[in-house]
Order: sequence, then C-alpha cells, then structure tokens
Amino acid sequence: MLDSNLKNQVKDYLQLLEKEVVISISLDDSEESKSLKEFIDELLKLSDKLKLENKKLKFTPSFSLSSEDVEGITFAGIPLGHEFESFILAVLQVGGRAPKLDEETKNRIKSIEEDLNFETIISLSCHNCPEVVQGLNIMSVLNPKIKHSMIDGAVFREYVDELGILAVPTTYLNGEVFNSGKISIDEILDKISDEKVDLELEKKPLYDMLVVGGGPAGATAAIYGARKGIKTAIVAKEFGGQVKETLGIENITGLVYTEGPKFMEEVKKHLDKYNVEVMDKILVTDIVEGSPIKLITDRGELSAKTIIIATGAKWRLIGVPGEIEFRNKGVAYCTHCDGPLFKNKKVTVIGGGNSGIEAAVDMASIASEVLVLEFLPELKADLVLQEKLKEFKNVKVVTNAETQGLYGEKVLEKISYKDRISGEIVEEKTDGCFIQVGLVPMTEWINKIEKNPRGEIIVDNAGATNIEGIYGAGDCTNSAFKQIVIAEGSGATAALGAYNYLMTK
Ligand SMILES: Cc1cc2nc3c(=O)[nH]c(=O)nc-3n(C[C@H](O)[C@H](O)[C@H](O)COP(=O)(O)OP(=O)(O)OC[C@H]3O[C@@H](n4cnc5c(N)ncnc54)[C@H](O)[C@@H]3O)c2cc1C
Repeated sequence: MLDSNLKNQVKDYLQLLEKEVVISISLDDSEESKSLKEFIDELLKLSDKLKLENKKLKFTPSFSLSSEDVEGITFAGIPLGHEFESFILAVLQVGGRAPKLDEETKNRIKSIEEDLNFETIISLSCHNCPEVVQGLNIMSVLNPKIKHSMIDGAVFREYVDELGILAVPTTYLNGEVFNSGKISIDEILDKISDEKVDLELEKKPLYDMLVVGGGPAGATAAIYGARKGIKTAIVAKEFGGQVKETLGIENITGLVYTEGPKFMEEVKKHLDKYNVEVMDKILVTDIVEGSPIKLITDRGELSAKTIIIATGAKWRLIGVPGEIEFRNKGVAYCTHCDGPLFKNKKVTVIGGGNSGIEAAVDMASIASEVLVLEFLPELKADLVLQEKLKEFKNVKVVTNAETQGLYGEKVLEKISYKDRISGEIVEEKTDGCFIQVGLVPMTEWINKIEKNPRGEIIVDNAGATNIEGIYGAGDCTNSAFKQIVIAEGSGATAALGAYNYLMTK
C-alpha cells in the first residue's frame, strides 16, 4: 500500500515519537477492513513505539489513536491521499510532539470546559479537507474534552446519505452541522466561543503600502513594496486565494509542475523573508479615501498612505431556483473536493468552457453518467479538452441549453433546462450539479472606485485607479486575462506604481 520510498520517510518521522501510541482498530469482514488492516500492519513494522489493539468503535472500519495522556482522534476509513499527512501529524502529536501553534491559541483551546465531539466528513481527493482535519486533531490533542473523527465519505456512504451531505469538508459538532468548507482553528474557536479575539488593529502603524488580498497578485505586490524598503502589509480574508483551490499548475514559467497549496506555501515563505506582515482572516468591508486612506474591516480599522486592492474573484452563480438551497446538498463547484461523493451517481456540469469540460472529464471516471449543459450553440473549451471528453462513453453534451432550476426534497434530485431552439423544457434526474460558468470579481464592497460593467476595477498601465493612492491588481481588475503569472505581473506593476506615487507626492 505504501511504496518503499514513502515507508522510509514515514520511518524517519516515526523516530520522532516520544512515547508509545496505541492504535485501537475496529474491523469487520469487509474489503475496506482488510485494506485498513493491511495499512496499519505496514505502519506497525516501521516503529516499535506503535502498538495495536482491537476495539469496537462507532465506525467500522476505523481506528483511534491514544497515548498515556492523549486520546480522542479517530480516522474512519484509510487516511491516504490528502489525509496521509493529517494521519502522520496526528500520530506524532499523540506521541508527544507538540503541535506548531502560538501560545495564545493553545491557551484558548485548553480553556474549553465543555465536551465537544466533532466529526468531519472528507474525501481523500479534497485539498481543503486536511486543514480542517489537522486543526481539529490538534484541538483534540491539546484538550481531552475535545474529540474528533475524520470520516471518509466515500467509505461511509450510507452515513453520509443519511446526513444528506454532498460537499466536503462538512463538520458536525455534537450531532449538529457546525461548518461546511474550510475553517481554521481560530475560526473554530471564534465560532465556539461566539467572541473574537481583539486583534488591536488600532495599535497597528500607518503603513506606506497596505495590500488587500493574499493571492498571487497581493503577495507579489507586497514583496515588491517590501523590497523598496517601505512599510508594507497584507490584509486578507483567506491567504492563498484561488490558487489554494487549484490542484495541478503547469503554466508558471520556470516551474514545470506544482500544486496550488504547495505553491502558496512557498509564496508565504518568500513574504516571510521580507518580514511582510500578513493579517489573515480579516474581511475588508470599505475603503475611505483621504490622507491617510482608511480600510474598514470586520476586526477594526487600518490606515495607509497607499492601498493595493487585489481581492481576486469567486465562482459565478447562475441565478436559478434551487442553486442556493441545494448548495452542499448536490450543488457544488469543486470536482476535486466533492467529486468522490458522487461515485456511481448521475451528475450534471453546467458550462462548456475550460473549467466545465475539465470538471466533466474529472467526473466521467467517477460518476455513472455526466450531463454537460452549455448555453451557447457550441462548447467553448480548448479542443484538446473537448477531444479528451469524447473518450468517455458516459457523457452526454447538450448545447443551446438554458438551465431553469434545480429541484429535490432534502437533496438535489432533478434539473430542468430549456432547449433554446425548440423552447421545450427538459427535466433530467441528477444527484449532483457542478456549476462552472466563470468567475465574478470580489469588488461588491467597493463603491467609489471606478469599475466596468462586469464589476472589475479599472486600472491604468501603472495599476492606478481613479482615486489617488489606490491601486488595483489581479483578477479583480479589468485585465484581459485571469492567470497566476498575469496576476503576479500586475501585482508588481501596482506596487511600483504606488511606490512612484509615494516618492513624488
Ligand atoms: C479552480 C481554478 C484553477 C485555476 N488554475 C489555474 C492554472 O492552472 N494556472 C493559472 O495561471 N491560473 C489558474 N487559475 C486562475 C488563478 O488562480 C487566478 O488568476 C489567480 O489566483 C488570481 O490571483 P489574485 O491574487 O488576483 O486573486 P485570488 O487568488 O482570487 O486572491 C484574492 C485574495 O483576496 C482576498 N479577498 C477577497 N475579498 C477580500 C476582502 N473583502 N477583504 C480581504 N481580503 C479579500 C482573498 O481571500 C484572497 O486572499 C485557476 C483558478 C481556479 C478557480
């Protein structure tokens, strides 16, 4: 199950164990149980600090981890794929290695007095899931009142169907839905305690350059600012931006292949090298022009001499009945994340551009049938993708199709579309619907800065907006194309534009 290279790496990691870790395993006669046993047996051979015992647990097959003073982490299913790292970290942390976390957050976790029983439904191909699993596992290691189970939705299909979950990660707390999607430890703590830590933004200095957005555009702008020796910081709702949602990236010059989360980790290291302050998990809600310019956020106010807006873009909605109602209950956007939950089910992909056809190709090897609906008379995706799609016999493409609505009782069951030639309304059964009709700029909170009809901030060739001292970069601007290297280039342009403005003001 693990190749020899990986085994050697794991063996090295397990040497860091400071105390014995007991793996309590719950098995039956199923094929999944056999595979889990095989996985655990391979690991047991890699360290004499790992011990095995049989135990009946809530989920079978599953196993829990404990040591003399820690228990409460369970993995239901085999934590391979994106969860392998979560598993190794959990073993090390249960085995005495302290989780990497600041003291304040550790103290917040340790001070929780109520019993919290978390369950997170994941898929092994979901790249957003490990952050949630690893965060809750750390909380469990630090506080015996907190328990956490990772549940592979592809293995526990009945359980997932009963809950009506069709999106991962979905986290339950004491039997109630707690969160859907990515969530950090700080956000979990804020949600539990219902009170946010005071970030004391009023004590922050006056920045020369404050960048709104932590994607490639914002990060590049900040590096350029810091390299000019000016006081620079980033404020972002979620550092990483869209790239964190991207699996394989093959078009960053000089990098033959990388993956989104890994790439943004490198970008963060690059920022750290220049001491750029990154204020993450803060939503900017308004900008007040003047000298200095003020940023209003959900955690307080910040001021700067220049601002660079690099807030990127988000998935476009199609605006039909059922789209919001069935979100995470059949309506989804990310095939890498949620695709495995639709194994052998019937799915629809709306949109025949590159992202739609990529999604259809992904789903063709997972789902039983894939229906692609394209509004226009022909698909707009690159020919190479269209040819790839033709290799699958379980895909039906309908062009000139205008989606009318998404219907069901508890979860999505049916989609209807209008044939734009005949006017006929067609209904199709569907268990899932991946909406891939492009992106909208994240600029709805911006009022006074000039935008085009698509909502994109209008910038000149130095990245300047119509308001003095305010610049724009990346996908939130009127750049003709939306790509990583283009966003990075425009981040550099905006930073140099803002620097020139500071020098000549
Ligand atoms: C699934 C997918 C696959 C892709 N694959 C590729 C690829 O292979 N190659 C390629 O070149 N491009 C790819 N792209 C496009 C690429 O990811 C974008 O062009 C690029 O990320 C744009 O960078 P950005 O910095 O402008 O915005 P983003 O990456 O969107 O970052 C925006 C940042 O702004 C923050 N933000 C937004 N609103 C606020 C607010 N109000 N307050 C505070 N912060 C805020 C966000 O949290 C985020 O940190 C892909 C995009 C997607 C969605």
